[in-house]
Amino acid sequence: MRTPVIAANWKMNKTQAAARQFLADFLPRVAGLEGVELIICPPFTALAAVAEGLRGSRVGLGAQNMSEKDPGAYTGEVAGEMLVEAGCRYVILGHSERRHIYGETDQLVGAKVRTAVRHGLIPILCIGETLEEREAGKTDAVNRRQLLAGLEGLTAGEVAGAIIAYEPVWAIGTGKNCDPGEAQRTIAAVRAMVAEAFGADAAARVRIQYGGSVKPGNIGSYMAQPDIDGALVGGASLDPASFAEICAAA
Ligand code: 13P
Repeated sequence: MRTPVIAANWKMNKTQAAARQFLADFLPRVAGLEGVELIICPPFTALAAVAEGLRGSRVGLGAQNMSEKDPGAYTGEVAGEMLVEAGCRYVILGHSERRHIYGETDQLVGAKVRTAVRHGLIPILCIGETLEEREAGKTDAVNRRQLLAGLEGLTAGEVAGAIIAYEPVWAIGTGKNCDPGEAQRTIAAVRAMVAEAFGADAAARVRIQYGGSVKPGNIGSYMAQPDIDGALVGGASLDPASFAEICAAA
């Protein structure tokens, strides 16, 4: 049985002060929640403040990106061991904004995933097609390419412990969430790809989230799908009441 996992991706939002204010409102709202794993991924500059705020709670900390390299002369980059020291247990990798705005390739994302796993971090590997790719009938092919490159070199056990987030690019920040039945079909196909490449046990254990315009009003219809194990939430995770409502519905 897979434990549902709900993660907040704050993207480039919230100062340390705003992050503290969020936690003061959010944490009491989810204090009694059980049977769901909760994660907050703030920007790098707020990691320490959020780590301190989360101490003693059941909510985990994640980063939104990391370097594939070990420490060295890589200006502007952040290494895995730095995230571990900052209190991170998770790291989002291959988000569509990294792929499409900053040009991250499938191969780079795979290298980042391997480095994250080597540091004991749980990767949240994001995959998903653009509108153009969807309209050309390439959804499953794009997911397969991003999935296999992203997980390349991992053992079946490491894949079982990872989190995959299916985020159709056209549904991100647009208010046009993917039809839950269609998200189920696509995510079941992704799970079948994991089975083919890493075996039935890894496929049965790996958690696959849906992401893209998740809101309190639609989270229930995603959680009702058998292959959808949670959500990666952008805009609606910035408001403590909305995000707590989404967490409670999981
Ligand atoms: P929105 O929830 O704002 O659509 O963003 C989704 C996302 O990109 C989460 O990583």
